Amino acid sequence: MPLPSVRVVEIGRFEFQEMPLQAPGEDEVLIRVDVTGLCRTDLKIVQVGHRDLVLPRVPGEEVVGTVEAVGSGVRQCKPGERVYVYPGMWCGQCPACRAGAENLCRQMQIMGFHRDGGFAPYVSVPAQSVIPVPEGLKADEAVFAEPLSCCLNALERASLQAGEQIGIWGAGPAGTLLARAARARGARPLKIHPDRHRREVIGGVATADGRRFDVAVVAVGDLDAYREALGHLAPRGRLVVFSGLTPHDDRPDVSFNQLHYMEQTLVGAYGCCHRHGQEALAMIADGRVPVADMVSHRLPLSQLDAALTLVAQRAGMKILLYPWQEETAG
Ligand SMILES: [Zn+2]
Repeated sequence: MPLPSVRVVEIGRFEFQEMPLQAPGEDEVLIRVDVTGLCRTDLKIVQVGHRDLVLPRVPGEEVVGTVEAVGSGVRQCKPGERVYVYPGMWCGQCPACRAGAENLCRQMQIMGFHRDGGFAPYVSVPAQSVIPVPEGLKADEAVFAEPLSCCLNALERASLQAGEQIGIWGAGPAGTLLARAARARGARPLKIHPDRHRREVIGGVATADGRRFDVAVVAVGDLDAYREALGHLAPRGRLVVFSGLTPHDDRPDVSFNQLHYMEQTLVGAYGCCHRHGQEALAMIADGRVPVADMVSHRLPLSQLDAALTLVAQRAGMKILLYPWQEETAG
């Protein structure tokens, strides 16, 4: 019997549905999903929607799997190979694509948003998006390539230099990956959390009091965190807008005179490019960015409800889902 996929049918409601398995199109690759990562964006997709979400949709933008079949025009991979999927499909022609910023492609189609994603036993993806997983790297670690890619894009947007002090607001999976990637770049990262109680629970987290950062990255969707980060920016510092805010909170009260007199910069960062996926896989594979210790839960896809509750309660770190796993696992 075919295994069910998760399908968000309307905002706030998803169903488990058995979906027909289709042969890949000419330039597509059919992938048997080995593991799919769950992130806060998925909670957002199910509960409140997202700017880029088109319904009904199978979510899941963090996918590692095994090539099951390829279309007649595909030369990038062969059945049986293990691959990571860059979640974007881009045109290659528009100004953003030509500038090497395909994450901003005018015709960007994101897996799990515009196209069906990895909360399913199989997913069909464009051949251009497939990146081979380095030999010997476990699927459970390779799947961190997607969130790490977004962190690498953020550090690139910030022009982070070796030796610089970088403050990271947020101590979840994104904040932790940002800190580790920054350290791999030779910078000095510090994770910031304003709440003393949470600091004691999380550990390894400081307050921003009395500090000035060359780079500040806000990895929590919280306007107060943005205010605090801006207040602790050094002269010529760069504040990276990494986490989106709800439309209600999107009311920045920036002092432009502060930016003027201190020569500071605000930079946005959204998603990642294909090349970040290759770089992220290499950094995980050679141990520059360790990720294995960040997995807090491994659950069958059928327990998505429980997994989303863990995310909502911030009860875990990284949660991995397995479409082919039976109910019994823990
Ligand atoms: Zn484009």
